[in-house]
Amino acid sequence: MQTWAKSSGPERYPIFVEQGAGGTMITCGCQAGAMGQMCKHKVALIEGDASFAVSGHEAGWQEACEAVQASGIPTAYAAFIEEQDAIEKQMEVLKKQAKASKGMFARRLSEGL
Ligand SMILES: [Zn+2]
Repeated sequence: MQTWAKSSGPERYPIFVEQGAGGTMITCGCQAGAMGQMCKHKVALIEGDASFAVSGHEAGWQEACEAVQASGIPTAYAAFIEEQDAIEKQMEVLKKQAKASKGMFARRLSEGL
């Protein structure tokens, strides 16, 4: 099925929910979506964010959201978000380590090497 997603400007983008050999697919006609990236429209559809529905096409948006909810996408998306959060936490730890290392080297420089 096809519906429309709002952009931040006056444009609107066609967004498709289709059955493929591997399961349910979401494709979007925006610039990022056309390059196969995870655009904000795909995220909005997965998260059921109705604020991205184009005026007059709310029912189609809702229908597309329901099709996504009935697929394997929500479970995979939840695992993806969990993985992203874990990576973000690791990055925070690494940033602290990098800062500590920088401080340590600055101290060594002031003490003499
Ligand atoms: Zn998009």
